[in-house]
Amino acid sequence: MTDDNHIYGTFVFPEQVFERGEGVRMFDANGDDYIDCTSGVAVTALGHAHPHLVQTLKDAADKLWHVSNLLTSPERDRLATRLCEETFADKVFFTNSGAEAIECAIKTARKYHYDNGAPERVNIITFEGAFHGRTLATIAAGGQEKYLEGFGPKAPGFIQVPFDDLDALKAAIDEETAALMIEPVQGEGGIRNVSNQFLREMRALCDENGILLIYDEIQTGVGRTGKLFAYEWSEAVPDIMAIAKGIGGGFPIGACLATTEVAKGMTPGTHGTTYGGNPLGMAIGNAVLDIVLEDGFMAHVNEMTLVLRQQLAEMLDHYPDIFEDTRGSGLLQGMKCKVPVGDVLGALRKHRVLALPAGDNVLRFAPPLTITQDELREVRERMITALDELQETLNTK
Ligand SMILES: *Cc1c(COP(=O)(O)O)cnc(C)c1O
Repeated sequence: MTDDNHIYGTFVFPEQVFERGEGVRMFDANGDDYIDCTSGVAVTALGHAHPHLVQTLKDAADKLWHVSNLLTSPERDRLATRLCEETFADKVFFTNSGAEAIECAIKTARKYHYDNGAPERVNIITFEGAFHGRTLATIAAGGQEKYLEGFGPKAPGFIQVPFDDLDALKAAIDEETAALMIEPVQGEGGIRNVSNQFLREMRALCDENGILLIYDEIQTGVGRTGKLFAYEWSEAVPDIMAIAKGIGGGFPIGACLATTEVAKGMTPGTHGTTYGGNPLGMAIGNAVLDIVLEDGFMAHVNEMTLVLRQQLAEMLDHYPDIFEDTRGSGLLQGMKCKVPVGDVLGALRKHRVLALPAGDNVLRFAPPLTITQDELREVRERMITALDELQETLNTK
């Protein structure tokens, strides 16, 4: 033992260490409160220690922790049924993470064509700036050099086209195409919205060419954009959809959703996972839906979206040396920065607001969907103090 830091060096952590959370707040060892506008990267959609989630997990802990995939559980069936009732889907495969949900989506699409007598249809077309996870297949799908470099040959079967470029997309589709895969709002890539029109064009292209449409709603799903799933804004339904993050509210679960027709090739033995569908996770997924599907919940998200957007527009106006635009959908909002986004994050953290970076030098906000107007006002006050201070340092440069 020659090193006293035993965590892989893949992350650089700030000095703050948090011990406890409650709602939108997290508390450090000194008891200082931070307002969490990250939701642990769009995961804790109901905030920290939500009473219904805490009680559900405690109750579930007294029952069965694990039954394997050789057995099912009432909670698993119930969560699958509810997800299908609320979406285009008929079938669900549960996973432990987002990347595994994407892996399942890719396998489902390829198997569908294979069983339909088109085994050559293996290619998945994705978009520049995409992020689909960190496994070997999902870094190939994301196509970003910074994630691929150093890890050997890029997994074949992924073709990337420029963002928002319909002609390039059309030109890329051929007889080896299996599916198109897209995030309705690019999250890690810089909070870039895909227009409803573009999604509808993609749906039409898939229908014309007999190929499948896959949505990655791992970040945008479960109310994040003000609808249960972001694709509902466009009404362009997918054939397959990967979800994770928000559906677990902090418990690591994910899911791949598909229609009966598309999932028909996923027969016994074709796919599996030890922990996917685990009773604890399934209980929590149901508890998250209990809250998110309540009357008025989406209306609240949409109201808070207006408040947050107005505040960010105000920041853009007041700090033209720091920000250059605002973008996003629902409570997933971004601001492109003119100074390094790390400087802005550091200034905010100093004044106890936690936000996130995204690609394209974007400052990202993904607060709990339960955040209130008063809490957003507090975020605004802390931000102004932090940004005044940052502006000051820019002036003296
Ligand atoms: C986070 C994320 C993933 C990967 O999910 P993991 O749970 O980290 O594997 C994939 N796609 C999108 C859009 C994401 O935001």
